[in-house]
Amino acid sequence: MGYELLKEFCISRDIDIRFDEPMSRHTSLKIGGPADMTFFPDESSLSELKRILAAERILSIVIGGGTNILVRDNGIEGAVIFTSKMNNIALNAERATLNIEAGCSLQKVINMCVENGFGGMEGLAGIPGSIGGAIAGNAGSFGFEIKDVIKSVNLLMPDVGIKELSVSDMNFQYRSAKIPPDSIILSAVLSLKKDEPVEVRKRIDEFIKEKKSKQPVSKASAGCVFKNPKDIAAGRLIDEAGCKGMRAGDIEVSAMHANFFINNGKGTADDFLKLMDTVSSKVKEKFGIILEPEIRILGRSGYIE
Ligand SMILES: Cc1cc2nc3c(=O)[nH]c(=O)nc-3n(C[C@H](O)[C@H](O)[C@H](O)COP(=O)(O)OP(=O)(O)OC[C@H]3O[C@@H](n4cnc5c(N)ncnc54)[C@H](O)[C@@H]3O)c2cc1C
Repeated sequence: MGYELLKEFCISRDIDIRFDEPMSRHTSLKIGGPADMTFFPDESSLSELKRILAAERILSIVIGGGTNILVRDNGIEGAVIFTSKMNNIALNAERATLNIEAGCSLQKVINMCVENGFGGMEGLAGIPGSIGGAIAGNAGSFGFEIKDVIKSVNLLMPDVGIKELSVSDMNFQYRSAKIPPDSIILSAVLSLKKDEPVEVRKRIDEFIKEKKSKQPVSKASAGCVFKNPKDIAAGRLIDEAGCKGMRAGDIEVSAMHANFFINNGKGTADDFLKLMDTVSSKVKEKFGIILEPEIRILGRSGYIE
């Protein structure tokens, strides 16, 4: 099957397919060269799309909200599958569970929790991106991680099909989860606690207020660039190594939170990577600690997990 047949398949399933799509349009950093091809399938077409891409030997990666990635300037080889059309939520009010498709935004889930008086997700309030991305990176804040509310995760696995995994199968760690290569999170069941909507709202408002006072949430960033080493915040190390306000081109270490790098408008992935290098060298020089990236770096010259 060639591109023509791939296009025909997409037309028959009403899948939006784009060629040479600039990834800067799909990342919170507003950085990233073109992906050879991009797809926006719903869940019912995903496994067939993956099968066709595999048969054609076209590499593919999956992206949710694009809020935790740096895409290199020379773009992405092969296919990018976006999950934004996989965004249904089924609610079981009695059991306080939500069955959520991976492309749902965390914000939509949190709004649903408030409306229905479900507690447990408050610590994730204000984190942008999708449920799939949050699970892939075990997103968290204020001492809370998404793994705390996960009951099970449905994965689409190559040569296996759809498989339900438990929390222990996912082996969640700080900002990571065990996802077999080339697998896609399709959906997850979250188990929450019944509470008064007004109380849930109150806690969310407090977390969002705190987040806004500490993080440059309105600027173009990808959240924390580096993982926190054991028992110390990476932001503190970067700050104490004298890196706040440091720049490479139009990328700047935020003066508000040193572990956030801001794109002031014309920043490139090369600038971003240069600044990461400079900052990690300064931290190593001063503290002897090697910082590990939290953001995922994607693109033609490599993929750092
Ligand atoms: C202003 C700001 C504040 C932030 N604050 C926080 C915070 O407090 N805590 C925190 O943890 N993070 C934070 N982040 C980072 C980011 O928002 C989260 O990590 C978020 O959960 C990423 O979700 P996403 O859908 O955008 O993932 P993406 O950036 O799209 O993808 C990230 C990774 O997940 C993989 N992935 C995405 N969807 C799937 C899927 N369906 N199946 C398999 N793999 C998938 C991708 O391949 C990629 O490797 C912040 C970011 C910003 C911009």
